[in-house]
Amino acid sequence: MQASQKQKPSVASKLPKKHIAAATVVAFCLVGITSFLPSKNVQAKRNVIAIDLPADAQTPHQAVNSLSDIAAHPDSTALQPQPLNWKETTITSGDNLTTIFKRLGLTASDVYTVANASSEQKPLQRLRPGERIAICLNNEGKLVQVKYTRSSLEHYLYERGGNGFEGKKVILQPDLIPIYKTAIINNSLSLDANNAGLSQAKIMELASIFGWDIDFALDIRKGDKFSVLYDEKFLNGELVGSGDILAATFTNQGRTFSAVRFIENDGSINYYTPDGKPMRKAFLRAPLDFTRISSNFSLRRKHPLHKRIKAHRGVDYAAPRGTPVYAAGDGKVIASGYSKANGNYVFIQHGGKYITKYLHLNKRLTHKGKHISQGKTIGTVGSTGYATGPHLHYEFLVNGVHRNPRTVKLPDAKTIAKHQHDEFLTQTVPLLSQLSQHSGILIAQAKPQD
Ligand SMILES: [Zn+2]
Repeated sequence: MQASQKQKPSVASKLPKKHIAAATVVAFCLVGITSFLPSKNVQAKRNVIAIDLPADAQTPHQAVNSLSDIAAHPDSTALQPQPLNWKETTITSGDNLTTIFKRLGLTASDVYTVANASSEQKPLQRLRPGERIAICLNNEGKLVQVKYTRSSLEHYLYERGGNGFEGKKVILQPDLIPIYKTAIINNSLSLDANNAGLSQAKIMELASIFGWDIDFALDIRKGDKFSVLYDEKFLNGELVGSGDILAATFTNQGRTFSAVRFIENDGSINYYTPDGKPMRKAFLRAPLDFTRISSNFSLRRKHPLHKRIKAHRGVDYAAPRGTPVYAAGDGKVIASGYSKANGNYVFIQHGGKYITKYLHLNKRLTHKGKHISQGKTIGTVGSTGYATGPHLHYEFLVNGVHRNPRTVKLPDAKTIAKHQHDEFLTQTVPLLSQLSQHSGILIAQAKPQD
């Protein structure tokens, strides 16, 4: 692990001699606090926990991983000359610094001094449920340190100095280790990917990379498969989260799509085909959250009501009421209203050429005239108007003519800029070759062409 701490000069170096004793206490707190990583189940059991933390608990293999470890350690107090009082609580809904400090046994004056820290006061006004606050008291019971933990990798530290509290933000850099996962789809993408060890968030990420080429609501079939290489984040050898998808393939009805991550000059991340074309296109293939659709294979039936309508000029997505509906592309809302046939509807104009229409919505979450970006939720699936069950009726018009949104050929996006070609290959060749080695799928990579 590399710890890159954006630190100001240490408190001790700035203190006059008479504060050295206090600084020593702060140092003990610092030592303790770095090893203060309570496990989730401990938090769940007890909302407020008091412990005696050994001052020298911080050695790589002796690091205290949970409060139960500390509590269970028979020598934890006997060995240590200067036990200090640590208390921690998990932030719950409705909490603020006052309620939290009260729960931890602190006073209104403590709240005041910490809230008025000379730096980083703002984060303390934006406490979110599930995050944690730990406090450290010295031997006289005086508050000397507060740690506000946002995640395993991000926390704020407030320390008492000569003039009240001073805060600093600490970002820990995890080790990134690529992991490979693959699955063949037998039930649904969500279920099979989940069984393969992908989190729901990772599945959404994967689908969002390929969602311009594949309609994840209607086109997934038994036998489709994917392979994905992504980073896992480790801190002190402990898995603390997942990072970017590095490279992936998705085989849909016999067609294999490949994507690879590229870090742009400005640090932003985009996905490209192996020969340098952006995965992102002007329109999403399916304008709704497919993960809300329980079975991807029962959706091919035509809606009974629509069978009777001769000119059915859209695609129907049967989905539970309330499923979010997304804007298929960037554009401007040109209509948002209600009619007897359409129910609640939204129409979006995309440039001069394209219009998308969304009918039978349960709720509309936008309004006429609004500029909207791709993927933004514009409403939810419903059965308003001429609809016998909840579904999204989606239409796609090119120059005023209805086209099938699932098959319409859209203009190719531009290949990555010429001056980035070398950088593109430097970054992506190793990722794609790793994925190929794991998956056995040969991914053809050519120098990007203009
Ligand atoms: Zn329809």
